[in-house]
Amino acid sequence: MDIKKISEMDRNSVLHPFTQLHDFAAGEAGDPTIVEGGKGIRIRDAEGREYIDGFAGLYCVNIGYGRDEVAEAIARQAYKLAYYHTYAAHTTEELAKLSDRLVKMAPGKMSKVFYGLSGSDANETQAKLVWYYNNLRGLPKKKKIIARERGYHGCSVVSGSMTGMSFYHDYMDLPVSGILHTGVPHYYWGANPGETELEFSARRARELEELILREGPETVGAFIAEPVLGTGGITPPPEGYWAAIQPVLVKYDVLLIADEVITGFGRTGAMFGSQKYGIEPDLITVAKGLTSAYAPLSACIVGEKVYEVLDAGAQKVGAFSHGYTYSGHPIGVAAANAVLDIVEREDLPGNAANVGEYFQTALEDAFSDSPIVGEVRGVGLMAAVEFVADPATKQRFDAQLKVGARVSKAARDRGLIARAMPHGDILGFAPPLTITKAEIDEIVGIARQAVSQVANELAKEPTHS
Ligand SMILES: *Cc1c(COP(=O)(O)O)cnc(C)c1O
Repeated sequence: MDIKKISEMDRNSVLHPFTQLHDFAAGEAGDPTIVEGGKGIRIRDAEGREYIDGFAGLYCVNIGYGRDEVAEAIARQAYKLAYYHTYAAHTTEELAKLSDRLVKMAPGKMSKVFYGLSGSDANETQAKLVWYYNNLRGLPKKKKIIARERGYHGCSVVSGSMTGMSFYHDYMDLPVSGILHTGVPHYYWGANPGETELEFSARRARELEELILREGPETVGAFIAEPVLGTGGITPPPEGYWAAIQPVLVKYDVLLIADEVITGFGRTGAMFGSQKYGIEPDLITVAKGLTSAYAPLSACIVGEKVYEVLDAGAQKVGAFSHGYTYSGHPIGVAAANAVLDIVEREDLPGNAANVGEYFQTALEDAFSDSPIVGEVRGVGLMAAVEFVADPATKQRFDAQLKVGARVSKAARDRGLIARAMPHGDILGFAPPLTITKAEIDEIVGIARQAVSQVANELAKEPTHS
């Protein structure tokens, strides 16, 4: 079908996520990008233009595009058995194998795996598990969940409430009650003058403790956090953060949910972000990297401590009354097993550590003296460059200038996809974990040109009010 025709049908009938609806539908924001194919770290559009995908879709295509091995595993499963449910103890061989594998590879003492289709629904399940757990323990008031400002946990009703960015809440009646937020461990923006990273981390832990005490520890069930802040700005934790936070949770009998949707399966240079930062979670959420997005699948990995209570309560409450038609869907499971084979065989966490270190250094070198760069940060193969009007005073750009979006567009015009992160003037990178150092050089080279172009344009405009 001709490109104009596809664009017209799309504009007339698709409600796109994170798209200004009117301008797009009216044709005032240009045509949609029709994505047609992908290989390795690159995607190709319907006009034949190639882009380096510096964001692996949405930090998810960790094994890169076009891996036949996974496509074949999905096809084999579709021919063998495209679907059966997992209610009332039905299973498949592949599901049993995947679950055994996840329990063994996950950090901490894990026991069981519950499957969903997205990170959002998995975090929704985590909330229900926390409530169920404390009901079974005879602690019916212990239900509040503390998330963090700038945390990202999804878009559904409860997970969207956990997300700590107001533009995910505005006009949508979120957050719902019972979901609270504490301060984000963002050292660049959050530290007081002269405060060390350790002092800043200790202050964030004190604030968490104060919040728990204010609410009443008997009402707080869980704390949910990403090991490395993702959509809120790709920000690794400051020194000592997790070591300071965890004793507070233990002291007040508050479960720790590690949202490893981005950090799971290698992105930080360790198999799980929890391993990298010494986190001992009670519940773990995985999605994105689990199948490298070759098919939808998410999981809640349930720790022994929580499972033992569920097990002991079963006589009283009967069946575990939670599940989706597609829980443990054979197609997603086939994709996950084939993807994890690649992650292990090609040691993608090792590549993320090794090439990641090269990447972080290259970004530092490229941008440390840019007049519009305030901070370069990251870990493994996730990184961000944050733009400010004056790096010396951290004066922000006027939001109307949309500096982050302009740099992202300048990169895209040069064939590189790097994401303008939604919270501030931030350019984010999270390429496939298969990436080579030569490909990193390409990414950093283009990003550097894009930043210079925008810096030159801005030098001719008033940049803040
Ligand atoms: C993407 C993401 C989610 C939500 O996953 P969806 O599949 O988009 O629902 C949850 N948590 C984190 C940390 C994420 O990055």
